[in-house]
Amino acid sequence: MEKGWQKRISADRIMEAAEASMFGLENPGFCTACGADHDECEPDARNYECYECGKKAVFGAAELALYLT
Ligand SMILES: [Zn+2]
Repeated sequence: MEKGWQKRISADRIMEAAEASMFGLENPGFCTACGADHDECEPDARNYECYECGKKAVFGAAELALYLT
């Protein structure tokens, strides 16, 4: 994961998405390279390919939440 991704994806967005994936049917994820949202992302996804920028930088929200602290 490249440095600086937290500037593109706010902690609030990640926590909100992580909660949604824990309690609901959604499986949100984010691209750490461009900040794009990814629906139907596995919660523990790592380095999945982004359909926006093509980089393998998509992480599941629950996974990303682990990197926030
Ligand atoms: Zn991307």
